[in-house]
Amino acid sequence: MGLSVVVVGGGIGGLFTANALLAHGFDVTVCEQAPALGEVGAGVFLTPNSVRHLHRVGLQAAVEKFGARVGTGSHYFRHDGAPIAPVQVADASGWNATFGMHRADLVELLANALPDGAVRTGHRAVGFEQDDRKARVLFANGATVEADAAIAADGIHSELRQFVAPPSRPVFHGSVAYRGVLPHYLIRDWPTDRWLMWLGRSKHFLTFPVRSGQLINYVGFVPADAEMKESWSAPGDPDLLRAEFEGWEPRIGELLGQVQNTFRWALYDREPLPVWTKGRLTLLGDAAHPMLPHLGQGANQSIEDGIALGTILAKADRTQVTPALAAYERLRRERVAAVQRGARENGMRYDSAYSDLGVRDAEIRAHAEFRKKLYSHDVVPEAQALAQSLG
Ligand SMILES: Cc1cc2nc3c(=O)[nH]c(=O)nc-3n(C[C@H](O)[C@H](O)[C@H](O)COP(=O)(O)OP(=O)(O)OC[C@H]3O[C@@H](n4cnc5c(N)ncnc54)[C@H](O)[C@@H]3O)c2cc1C
Repeated sequence: MGLSVVVVGGGIGGLFTANALLAHGFDVTVCEQAPALGEVGAGVFLTPNSVRHLHRVGLQAAVEKFGARVGTGSHYFRHDGAPIAPVQVADASGWNATFGMHRADLVELLANALPDGAVRTGHRAVGFEQDDRKARVLFANGATVEADAAIAADGIHSELRQFVAPPSRPVFHGSVAYRGVLPHYLIRDWPTDRWLMWLGRSKHFLTFPVRSGQLINYVGFVPADAEMKESWSAPGDPDLLRAEFEGWEPRIGELLGQVQNTFRWALYDREPLPVWTKGRLTLLGDAAHPMLPHLGQGANQSIEDGIALGTILAKADRTQVTPALAAYERLRRERVAAVQRGARENGMRYDSAYSDLGVRDAEIRAHAEFRKKLYSHDVVPEAQALAQSLG
């Protein structure tokens, strides 16, 4: 058996990382605070830069089965339906592995690939200790899990971040996202093979298919009201959602006419952290780098984190855990900070925060090049090279 690793948080980042570590023969335990694994009723957009790693850990068939492939008909429009530009869905080599996925399906397929007993639910991490031999995570239920390394994948409100980085406050961006899924049979004319986005003043609206096109995921981004400034997530009122997009291209109104329940998320990120790692503890996913959803990269970057970490730790022996985690941080911190910044910039484009929308539209067209680079990145060769340098 290789090194032992405790992963705190059974979200997309933590569960993928457990898969990546198991592929290298590690002894992995995932500790999740909730009584059962699960996810909200909304979609996540998977792009080639993470799908190649899902393939690497043997999940290609599961992704094809549960995902909905998003193709070249994907498009940006102005709010009234005037076309702006095609959406880049392939990497620079033309490889299109872009999928809409129901978040619950992704969590389920990642969890199902783990051995029985690898996930412990009802474990809320409340403390952390380490010495030159082991990392120890302490849980509210009185349990302690000891391992060679500890990975904090416990989300934007990470409890374990305080053991690594100086305190920082999440940054609120004044917007909320209404999210939900609709059965496709309610909106039979809606395409099931493309990502579609409409851009208006301070608002934008997105749809993509999930679960083989049986469901259509929608997200409506709108300015926050006073209530949402106080809360992270809350049930939304479908009538208020419909009112937000009144006067937009009529097919949006037809889709929203079918919505009976919806949920709202306030949009927060953080400034890039100066440090992710302390000794045997490192941060991963939203715990390390929460970002705005305007590049659709939060989950994708957590998957890149997980494969990079597994690749580097695989070359470490028990005496090299600390330098291996530091190498992971060095590899990931700058790339992810650039994606965090890129998501903020794209939010300005999507919310039409430009005096000249012609300039904005030109930037959206040009943005295909940014996405090609983003999607072509393969973190594994760089991680392998860094791992060699551990000695
Ligand atoms: C509106 C919106 C749309 C988005 N769309 C996309 C998209 O299309 N593509 C994309 O890539 N990303 C998207 N994202 C971002 C993405 O959802 C996140 O970046 C991603 O889910 C992060 O995963 P994570 O595992 O790091 O954190 P989380 O999903 O937050 O998981 C953290 C887990 O840790 C658990 N936990 C928390 N505290 C503790 C504790 N103390 N002890 C034990 N367990 C704990 C939680 O219960 C949870 O299960 C979107 C986000 C938003 C808000």
